[in-house]
Amino acid sequence: MSGRCIFCKIVDGQIPAKIEYQDDDILVFHDITPQAPLHLLIIPKKHITNLNEIREDNADIITKIFTHIPKLAFQFGINEKGYRIVNNCGRDGGQTVFHLHFHLLGGRNLTWPPG
Ligand code: 5GP
Ligand code: ZN
Repeated sequence: MSGRCIFCKIVDGQIPAKIEYQDDDILVFHDITPQAPLHLLIIPKKHITNLNEIREDNADIITKIFTHIPKLAFQFGINEKGYRIVNNCGRDGGQTVFHLHFHLLGGRNLTWPPG
């Protein structure tokens, strides 16, 4: 499936996206259907289906993603007010795109529990 899923196509530039940041390993872009004033998706460039595929030998990408999150929070001025990181894993978790991604939601007061 690598290279075929919608987020792989965004990585490859086959589908346009509003990209905020990228390096060799990760890509950050705006969600097409934002659920908050700021709604970013942070993904590994390499295709990983979801958290079920994370093991010791590929877990570095999680560190990479999570060390970048505070930088984004500072960049968008939401570090003080706060924000939410969401990962939907599998169908019951609400995952609709089967390429690992973390939602960064901010800019409004987010309710709990989620739906
Ligand atoms: P999930 O439901 O899998 O956790 O999240 C998938 C997210 O990807 C959804 O919030 C959806 O709006 C977003 N999304 C789906 N297709 C595209 C697309 O082509 N471009 C962008 N930027 N976001 C997308
Ligand atoms: Zn993919």
